[in-house]
This record gives sequence, structure tokens and C-alpha cells, in this order.
Amino acid sequence: MQASNSNSAPIYRVRVAVPVYLHDCFDYSLSAEQYQQAEAGARVAVSFGRQHLVGVIMEKLAPDAPLDPSIKLKAITELLDERAILSPKVLTLVTWAAQYYQFPIGEVVHSALPALLRQGKPYNLLARMWKLLDDNAEAKVKRSERQQEAYKILKLHPSGTSENILNLAGVETATLKALEKKEICTCVLETQDFSPMPVSLAQMPLTANEEQKHAINSIVKTRGKYQAFLLDGLTGSGKTEVYLQVMQEVLKQGKQVLVLVPEIGLTPQTVSRFQSRFHCNIALLHSGLNDSKRLQAWQAAETGKASIVLGTRSAILTPMPNLGLIILDEEHDLSFKQQEGFRYHARDVALYRGHLEQCPVILGSATPSIDSYALVQHGKMRVLELNQRAGAALMPKIHLLDLKIAKKQHGISESLLEEMKKRLEKKEQVLVFLNRRGYAPVLICESCAWQAKCPHCDANFTVHRTPYQHLHCHHCGTIHRMPEHCPQCAHKELKPLGMGTAKVEEHLNELFPDFDVIRVDRDSTSRVGSWQKIYDKIQQSEPAILLGTQMLAKGHHFPYVTLVAILDIDSGLLSVDFRATERTAQLVVQVAGRAGRGERKGDVYLQTLRPDHPLLNTLVKEDYRQFAKQTLKERQAAMMPPFRYAALIRCESKEQQLNTDFLQHHAQLLRQSAELNVDIWGPIPAPMERKAGRYQSHMALLSPDRARLHFYIRNWWQNMLHSKPSSMKLTLDIDPQELS
Ligand code: ADP
Ligand code: ZN
Ligand code: ZN
Repeated sequence: MQASNSNSAPIYRVRVAVPVYLHDCFDYSLSAEQYQQAEAGARVAVSFGRQHLVGVIMEKLAPDAPLDPSIKLKAITELLDERAILSPKVLTLVTWAAQYYQFPIGEVVHSALPALLRQGKPYNLLARMWKLLDDNAEAKVKRSERQQEAYKILKLHPSGTSENILNLAGVETATLKALEKKEICTCVLETQDFSPMPVSLAQMPLTANEEQKHAINSIVKTRGKYQAFLLDGLTGSGKTEVYLQVMQEVLKQGKQVLVLVPEIGLTPQTVSRFQSRFHCNIALLHSGLNDSKRLQAWQAAETGKASIVLGTRSAILTPMPNLGLIILDEEHDLSFKQQEGFRYHARDVALYRGHLEQCPVILGSATPSIDSYALVQHGKMRVLELNQRAGAALMPKIHLLDLKIAKKQHGISESLLEEMKKRLEKKEQVLVFLNRRGYAPVLICESCAWQAKCPHCDANFTVHRTPYQHLHCHHCGTIHRMPEHCPQCAHKELKPLGMGTAKVEEHLNELFPDFDVIRVDRDSTSRVGSWQKIYDKIQQSEPAILLGTQMLAKGHHFPYVTLVAILDIDSGLLSVDFRATERTAQLVVQVAGRAGRGERKGDVYLQTLRPDHPLLNTLVKEDYRQFAKQTLKERQAAMMPPFRYAALIRCESKEQQLNTDFLQHHAQLLRQSAELNVDIWGPIPAPMERKAGRYQSHMALLSPDRARLHFYIRNWWQNMLHSKPSSMKLTLDIDPQELS
């Protein structure tokens, strides 16, 4: 195209990513003065159709760049930032991610910004500073331990300190407000100071063992360039110590470190390990923050004030001017993959970011994902192993209990109950794991076999007994009254079948009346603070039975647990998904890792109907690495991910036929794209065909050639989005975690 405006006045333009469900950026004009000030990475207010939106400048166009005369250029409403708040590297990162995951760029850019900035609020908010008014107030706080603690900390900072820092130190805002009421302290608003804080060591590092030394040296040597490492070490083998010592070297160079942990792993215990090692500013980014706290933490990262940024999945998009190291702890954890909207995997984004920033990336786990082992196999990542448990702790022994021949009481084998009793009598703790909350997964009529089903889903209702008797659908949230008799045959005996944590709790209380049973699941911890209370109780050396779901499996340290029982391993093994055994093995090893972390050796018991399951046996008789090796071979033989690249199209509407016809038509179109080496699976109805009253179908695409697959999908997918009926919901999942 010719520049048609060569002899008229220059037109100043910027290309803006606007948060709408469209894949392109949009050009806006602005005044010469605004243009001069504008930087790529700054926010602008724009109108889009009838909406007023906050966009981000992705590019400043040259004034003499060709102009499409058919497009009526709108002017921006306002330039919101006088400088770039998303760095060029983050702009490159989000542009890549939008392309790779085929998700609208404006939406991706928005996920890199904290809520207040997305809403167009000014960058410079005021910080809340707390200062002591009365430094002789011991008597006034005598009656509250929390207030005493807060008072003590405030006294250490006579010139005042920010609410953020106080919160990090464990002082709650409510406590500060209570002290303010008593006129002991006051809160003032100050403009924030973003100058970097000096870093120093707060605590001497431990003396690393040989394996740790090797790991630390290998990583430190690659500083300043990109290299991915898989730190493959048993639970308790000192991975965190390796992170800390590598961080020390990176921080010493004045660089920042980004640490990502699973959603459930960002506990006060994790934070305090970093805090007690380094004196420096640590920014915490997780979903529990309110908007202004989140903004402040993000700003500390973005300005370079924070030397360490500790966050969950979405923190991977945070701008950091001096990023020198990225760590992903528990890299196998599912929470690193976003399962809705912008479906990215933080692990893959982290690897790409390390490459952009030219810094090392460490993925750590006791049960690395098969995906990561494949990267090692392909030479894209270096593996560093830690094989000894640090300190005195021994690895627990795993035993299989054959449920077909075992004598049972309420679904628990008698020999297991016997072992539990022995441990409890020795004042040790026992952990019982069952990944099913509620009382029972099925309500059945004893006479005609009718089962209580959710009217909106293809699923059984779960029976709950607390806080009152009811039926609950765990898929759509529907709640029903408990029927008094069978609606089909009027029989009065309706029986809860199978076990949920609430039912097991009832039985354990009956079987072990002298011991505490502590249940940990979403139902028992839904009240704020209740999880902390349970946690404190677990840390006391009283004999007790800890009973729970998933929530108990992750990273926590339970020093008094010496026996772990997994009541139902089979539901994981029977699942149709190709990653089901991988997930089950990870879960077993992670749950087992809770046993014997103290001085005493631990035992793990698995109840199963399939004691001959080959992969389960590899795991039990050998170890996770051997299991992983075998799984890698199987995946390669079957040409399943990560040996082929996948994309999954999910389709949801009011009629199954509509889904099938639509997907089939588009599958046909894709098949016609010449020379594409791709398998198309489906379309087929999802395992749960009807959910919340809507029908689900999907279709999977697999190819050994990722670049070609993505290239061919691009236009095809756009075409699908444009031609779908408006009542249909379509999503594209690149590198899906499940194919069913
Ligand atoms: P992981 O992160 O692999 O689960 P941790 O780093 O938490 O392991 O280490 C487990 C325990 O061993 C911690 O209490 C830690 O302080 C201790 N530890 C780690 N490395 C050493 C070492 N080199 N010498 C002594 N104790 C260590
Ligand atoms: Zn009946
Ligand atoms: Zn339902």
C-alpha cells in the first residue's frame, strides 16, 4: 500500500490492545504532544463501539506509516500513564502467549495487570503508613496477645512503617485499627517509595550436601543466560535449600527472583522460609489479596523495589526490570494450568520468559511431570537429582492392601485399623486420605436400585449430612432436600452408598473413641481461619487421626505423622484420561511424603482392588522415577502427549446434535487443509455429557508437528468462532491437561 498521506499533515497513531474478545489490536490516533509522551506498554483510555475501555499501547506507529483510508481512525480518550508500565519484555511475552494459546491479545494483556490498573485507576496510589503515638502503652494492650505483638513491632519502627510490611510480619489490619481506636497509633497516607531496598542475608545458609552443592553450582554457573533445570528431589531432600542458595547468588548481583508456587502452597510457612533467610523486600502475589494490596505488591515488582516476588500462577506475567532467576516449585501441580478463559500453563510461559530474559529457570518437584521428563529426554532441560532426605528422616515404605481378600470394617481393612491403633497408642499421628468430600457419593433405593441424580447433570447427587441432611451436586451446585422415600417405588429405605470424608469421619470416631479425628476438606475449612486452627492442632504432638482430601496432600509439614492410609486409589487408576495414572502416582508419592518427616520412619498403606496393576507396582516396588520412565515409554509408543502436540475444542450448547453437526462440519474443513499431519479425535460427547443443563462435546487434534498444527488451527479456529450460533460456547485449549 502507498502512503497516501505523504503531502498532508502526519497522523500520529498507536496500536492498542483492547480487552475485547477479538484477536487483533486496534489503531487509535492521538495528538502530536500525546504521541511524544506515549510509550509502548502505557495504558490509554479509548472508546470501542459504545464502550469505554482501558487498553495498552503495544506499538507506536511511525507518523508516515501507511494508512488504510477505509478505516475511520478514532482518537484515544486519554493517555493514562506517562511511562511504560509493562516492560518491552512483558509485551513480547504477552504477544507470544496470545499467539501461542490463540487467545485475544487485549485479554492476555489485561491478565498481566492488577485489577485497579485494569480499571484505569492512577498508578500512584497512596500507601498507608502506621506510626506509634504512645510508646508507653503496655498497660493498654495487656489483655490482647495480638495487640501486644503489634505494639511491639510498631515500637521497633519509631518513624512508622507501611501496612504491607506489618501485614507480612503477621500483624492484621484489624489489630492496627483497634490500636488506633485506643489512640496508641495512627495511620497516615504517604506517596509510596519505590526505591529498591538493599538485600542482605538474615540467616546463614545450611552446609549443602554433595548433591545440593552440585545442583547449586550448576545453576549458578548459567547466570546471565537461559537454561532450564529440573530439580528432581524426594520430599524433604532439600530442594528449598537449593533454591535459597541459588537465590542468594542472584540477589547478590542486584537481580530479582520470581518464585511461583501452587495455589495451595503459598502458606505463611513458605513465606517465612524466604523471609527468615533474606532481609529484603518480598512482594506476595496471590488470589487472597484485596485490590490495593495486590497493586502495591505488583508495583514493588515492577519498579524493582521488591527483590523477591513470590506468587501463584498469574505472577508469571508480572513485569520485573532486573529478573535474574525464575523458580517453579512443585512444577507438576495442576494449579499452574489455568482451566478457564486464557488457558495458559505457567510452566511453559516461565520457560519462554526465561528465554526472553536470558536467565535460568528451575522447575522443582518430588514427582516431576512426564512433560518435564520428556523435555529432559529431548535435551531441552537439564536434570539435577537429590536422592537423600536431609537430616535424619527416612523414606516411608509403601504397602498394598488387596481389598478383594481383606476383612473390612466400614470399608477399611482390619489389618490397617490394627496398624492405626498401634501408632495412636504410641502417641503418633495417622493421616487418612480420601479424595471425596461429603457423606456418600450415591443415594440408592434398596428395593428398586433407583439412584438420586442431579436433574441438570449426568451425575449422581452427593449425600451431605452437615450442616443438615441434603443432596448436593458437586458439578453444578444444585441442592435438593433429602427424599423421604423412593420416588420410583415408594420404598422407605434409601441407603447412602460408598464413602465420603464425612462418613469415614463418623466411622473413625466410632472405631477410635479415645482419639481426635480432624477432618480437612473444603466443607470443614470453608470458614476463614479454620484451616489455620486445624494446622496448629496438627503441629502439637498429640495422637490424632487427620482425615482429608487433596488439601492434605500438598507440601505441608506434619512431623508427628508416621502412618498414611490411602483408602481408595482405584478411582484414579480407572479414569479414562491418559494422564490419570500420572496424577495418581504423583498423589500417592506426595501424600506418602507427609509420613515420617520427623525422626520416626513412616509407612504408607494403599487400599486397592487391583494390587496387580503394573504401573502401581512399579511405583510401590521401585520408585516414582522408574514409574515415570515406564510411563514415558508408553506415551511414546502410543504417540500421546508430550510425544505429540494436542489441542482440544470444547463445545457447549442446548442440544447435543447441534454440537455434533457443528464440530463435524469443521473437522471436515480441517481435513481438507492439505498436507497437515493431524489426527482428529471425535467429536464425541464429554464424559459428563450434560452439565448444568447444557450439553458438552469435544474434539481433539493431535500432531507431531507443533508449528504446523498451530499454523493450521489459527484461521480455522477464527472461522469457527465467527460461524458458531450465538447460543453455543466454544473454547480452544492448547496443550490441554486432559483429552477427555
Ligand atoms: P524439600 O524442599 O525438598 O521438601 P527442604 O528444603 O524443605 O526439602 O528440606 C527438608 C528439611 O531438611 C528442612 O528442614 C531443611 O531445613 C533440612 N535441610 C535441607 N538441606 C539441609 C542440609 N544441607 N543440611 C541440613 N539440613 C538440611
Ligand atoms: Zn425404589
Ligand atoms: Zn448438577
